[in-house]
Amino acid sequence: MNGLYYSESIGSIKGVGEKTEKLFNKLGVYTISDILLSFPRTYISYDEPLEREEDIPDGSDGPVALKAVAVGKPILKRTKRMDITIVKAALKDSPLDLLWFRSPYIRSKINDGETYIFYGKVVYESTCPKMEQPLIFTEQEYNEIKTGLQPVYHLTKSLTNNAYRKAVKQALSLAEFPSDYISVQKKAKRDLISIKDAINGIHFPSDTENLIQARKRLVYDEFFRFFFYMYTDKEQKAPAENRFPVTDIDNDSLYKGIIENLPFELTKGQADAVDDIKKDFAGSVSSERMIQGDVGSGKTMIAFIAMAMQVINGRKACIMAPTEVLARQHYETFKEYIELFKLPFNVVCLTGSTKGKERKEIYASFKEDGPLFIVGTQALIQEKPEFKDLSLVITDEQHRFGVKQRRDMSLKGEEPHIMVMSATPIPRSLAMILYGDMSISVIKDVPARRKPIKNAVMKASEREKAFMFMAKQVSEGHQCYIICPLVEASDKTEAENVTEYAKDLRSYYQNNRMDINVGLLHGKMKNEEKNTVMSEFAAGEIKILVSTTVVEVGVNVPNATVMMIENAEKFGLAQLHQLRGRVGRGDAQSYCIFMDGSDGKDTSKRLDIVKNSNDGFYIASEDLKLRGPGDFLGIRQSGDMNFSLADIYQDSDIMRQASDDVKEYIKNIPAGYAEYLKFFSSTTYTNL
Ligand code: ADP
Ligand code: MG
Repeated sequence: MNGLYYSESIGSIKGVGEKTEKLFNKLGVYTISDILLSFPRTYISYDEPLEREEDIPDGSDGPVALKAVAVGKPILKRTKRMDITIVKAALKDSPLDLLWFRSPYIRSKINDGETYIFYGKVVYESTCPKMEQPLIFTEQEYNEIKTGLQPVYHLTKSLTNNAYRKAVKQALSLAEFPSDYISVQKKAKRDLISIKDAINGIHFPSDTENLIQARKRLVYDEFFRFFFYMYTDKEQKAPAENRFPVTDIDNDSLYKGIIENLPFELTKGQADAVDDIKKDFAGSVSSERMIQGDVGSGKTMIAFIAMAMQVINGRKACIMAPTEVLARQHYETFKEYIELFKLPFNVVCLTGSTKGKERKEIYASFKEDGPLFIVGTQALIQEKPEFKDLSLVITDEQHRFGVKQRRDMSLKGEEPHIMVMSATPIPRSLAMILYGDMSISVIKDVPARRKPIKNAVMKASEREKAFMFMAKQVSEGHQCYIICPLVEASDKTEAENVTEYAKDLRSYYQNNRMDINVGLLHGKMKNEEKNTVMSEFAAGEIKILVSTTVVEVGVNVPNATVMMIENAEKFGLAQLHQLRGRVGRGDAQSYCIFMDGSDGKDTSKRLDIVKNSNDGFYIASEDLKLRGPGDFLGIRQSGDMNFSLADIYQDSDIMRQASDDVKEYIKNIPAGYAEYLKFFSSTTYTNL
């Protein structure tokens, strides 16, 4: 072998020293295949640079490239909040002001009298044009990237896009690729390029057409691996006998106690789902059911009732949530329900932060005879504890888990019934492919007395109005969420960004003599810290919670009435809808404020869709209509279904093809496929 084997560390790439390697590691990039599979976030096409102010298109809101000569040395201005670097430059017909925040290193990059290409948005605040945070290129550097689409990667502090790009280029030229497992005939039939060309093309597309082709192949592969896991799993598993039957539950006095004391009347959708589950449990084989219902449709109660049916029969039933915060929340809810319904059963909660003696005791309780409600995260399956009579396994917000995890979990018990709950609105025909043999219950209605959420799209200039609105809601006893912008600039992390936002908001309220407890939540915090913040928010101590998207899935604080999303234009519509679903869960009127940080028309069209509808199904279909084929640049994935490139709506045709092809393929798997899977194994794909 003369190239680099793909499992070698990225440190073996020329130009990636120890320091750079550590930066890549921070992004989860360790090996050659990791870097090859860390696809660009978006692409930029660089045009011929403009040399005159009069050439800058009027009212243009996109970035432009300006060629200008630096005049004098950069000036570093230190303010209380941050350092600002100012550079004066000259276009052919006008001066140009340039500035950067928190980037003192700019000083050493720019020399008086030299020509540079500055790439960024132009704003007019004084007499001459101004650019904030533009990218800087020498003329020679700019000439190199002028052709084709240039990749933009997810970065971390001190790792520039340029350095990232160079490392990818090196890796591409050196890496040994696994041989393509798809036959030439099949590639021709499905109009697919080779895996090697696809990985090249996704990083450095020669043009848009090439990018579309590259993506198509990778999307196909992603679905292929998904169905491969799913179908090989199923092959081995004939439907098992129902070892945990439940019959005549309606006449059970404990069950009656639940139904008679429900804190609310079940919606028709909930009642139907409960009936479906009853039939499953009374059937002859162990069941697999998917409960699909929009955010706020009340899936938790269905889970509780289903688990109770089994627990009443002396068995154990468990529910797994994708995050610790959610697991804790379910645990608290279940404790309340057990008390409310006067059930003589225990509930335990096992997460990553359950340690030592407590963990041991919980494990011991799994092995004992007798009924038990179990709540937890993936930690439940990690150490493969033993269970006695585990009769039902529910995964909540299923798209965060994958087929494989589900399989792991069911192996731990003795063919328990399986239920998954998802808020991803997908058409039945797609659901049948994606979930294989699962039965599906769809909850179409939301609890009746709930008032529809009122939505607004606001501009940055109206932010104070929004803050004041929230203060008023707080004074009326309610609570609010603010979801912080996604971070783009290379020199700030998401955590730093929300932390700063919360600080600014606190001083804003202080300056206005308002005493409002502002909390903070982001992914970099320790689990214990997160739990504390979430329980303080749930208890109503924290009034406004500034957070990253960690609150996206499943969090239930019915007293919260405002959801404000910064830079809403940067999120996928499905994700916006999920986020909005955190409010409108109680009796009070709720509000969602989408802050539009762009000035483009297209984004406002997209935001109008979520503004004008609260229906997840409708939003998903409209979202699709707005996107042309291949129009995926810059639109963030919603995170649905754990696919990294594939989109179950937009790529449903490719999905069907991959599903068909896998069925054909697993009858005769070529030896090379294992090697190919290894190539992909270090990526998020393993979650499948
Ligand atoms: P999701 O389907 O998003 O998981 P939850 O189960 O968290 O929704 O329910 C959202 C909120 O609605 C909770 O506060 C829950 O108590 C309440 N709820 C659930 N079902 C009903 C119902 N039938 N009537 C009134 N409120 C309900
Ligand atoms: Mg939920």
